[in-house]
Amino acid sequence: GPNGRIVIVTNRLPVTANLLEDGRWHLVSSSGGLASALRGVKDVELLFVGWPGISVPEADRSSITEKLLTERCVPVFLNEEMMDEYYSGYCNNILWPLFHYLGLPQGYKFNKAKDFESQLKSYTEANQMFADTVSEIWKEGDVIWCHDYHLMLLPQLLKQSNRNMKVGWFLHTPFPSSEVYQALPNREALLKAVLEADLVGFHTYGYARHFVSACTSLLGLEGCLGGIEFKGRIVKVDAFPIGIDAQHFKESLDRVTVKDKIAELKSTFAGRKVMLGVDRLDMIKGLLQKLLAFEKFLEENKGRASKVVLVQIAVPTRSDVPEYQELKSQVHEMVGRVNGKFGTFETLPIMHLDTTIKFETLCALYAITDVALITSLRDGMNLVSYEYVACQEANKGVLILSECAGAAQSLGAGAIIVNPWNTAEVARAMKRALDMLPDEREKRHRHNYEIVSAHTAQDWAENYVWALNAATIKAPLGT
Ligand code: UDP
Repeated sequence: GPNGRIVIVTNRLPVTANLLEDGRWHLVSSSGGLASALRGVKDVELLFVGWPGISVPEADRSSITEKLLTERCVPVFLNEEMMDEYYSGYCNNILWPLFHYLGLPQGYKFNKAKDFESQLKSYTEANQMFADTVSEIWKEGDVIWCHDYHLMLLPQLLKQSNRNMKVGWFLHTPFPSSEVYQALPNREALLKAVLEADLVGFHTYGYARHFVSACTSLLGLEGCLGGIEFKGRIVKVDAFPIGIDAQHFKESLDRVTVKDKIAELKSTFAGRKVMLGVDRLDMIKGLLQKLLAFEKFLEENKGRASKVVLVQIAVPTRSDVPEYQELKSQVHEMVGRVNGKFGTFETLPIMHLDTTIKFETLCALYAITDVALITSLRDGMNLVSYEYVACQEANKGVLILSECAGAAQSLGAGAIIVNPWNTAEVARAMKRALDMLPDEREKRHRHNYEIVSAHTAQDWAENYVWALNAATIKAPLGT
């Protein structure tokens, strides 16, 4: 309630425990969007519950717990086997691809049924550990906010332990069409567990609609866009599009270090227009489709290969997984092909970097970019598009944005919206964006900028918590 705390439950805590060489532990804050969004919420006491990012030996647990508490964090200690089965397995190998329309892992139905069962068992156990930790710290008046596909059983487990807990659940990925979702063997159990929450939130109305129709078609429940009738109550289902801390990005552009970087990048790319992609190297980001479209653009606009550069920051992700290694080689092959075909001694059309970059470098890159290119095949929201817009007050660059990113719902009128699978369309969009006249660029940027500045991450969190507080506590189970 208004006087209680907000308990944020996420798979990963906003800080990571690290073991130093001298055997001591120290904590590093992670720069993730969610953590910074929530840190911006004022006048409310926050508590974070989650995994500290590393498997911690029994002997060190109490000292780490104490340390974490000074950061308002309460750890859930998952061991390595659990991280393998629950996290890498059920979360990232089953739910992540399914929710992004990539289907279930090939062949698993027939050959790896045992894997699925043991991964699901581990998922259930992990969710129970999160539930136990929350129950231990829960106080009257607290509101529990569960996050993401890692914790779909949590609302049910919490309500079983304490019917008076106010519990919300929010999904940061897409929720797929029920015809895709129905492939999941334990599809009913996950839906029923989520429906124990008082408020179920998504980034877009489309995802909320998909969830409601999965509940009506697979569970036979009565639903509308506002909610679902479940066990004699209406469970609220709604869209809460996340935002960013736009001010933070804008202010960074005034720092001397960022200004220096901007000057440096401008001279590096002098005489060329800059197109930019910033994506984790994940199948859902449509990197190959983006490169294919850029190749087509260069083929159709022969003189421009030396006048434009595509800077692609490919942030490493899940690099121990064979499918991701394979994607990386395919991307490298495409980059090599395009640079080999269109490059000269002076310039290469693609600058591809397999790396993370520092916040200040990222802001400088955003600021000097003429066209940002986001071609996700599926993307819960896509914050890179928001961050780019926040850094473009001076330049008024163009955003090319996939219709399959959640962000297309909010930045649709300002961006050039494309179907990432339509190579010719994306190639045309590149030309159009690069040649766009100042008036149109100004108008489109203005539209996006107003949205990005007005709907911040902080507003998102406040709106969600407000709606959760307003949602009625459901009747006890079984009535
Ligand atoms: N980002 C980062 N390190 C980098 C480059 C980018 O942490 O080297 C950040 C970026 O600023 C953005 C986030 O990663 O906030 C990516 O979020 P997005 O929603 O676009 O995609 P996700 O990676 O969550 O699928």
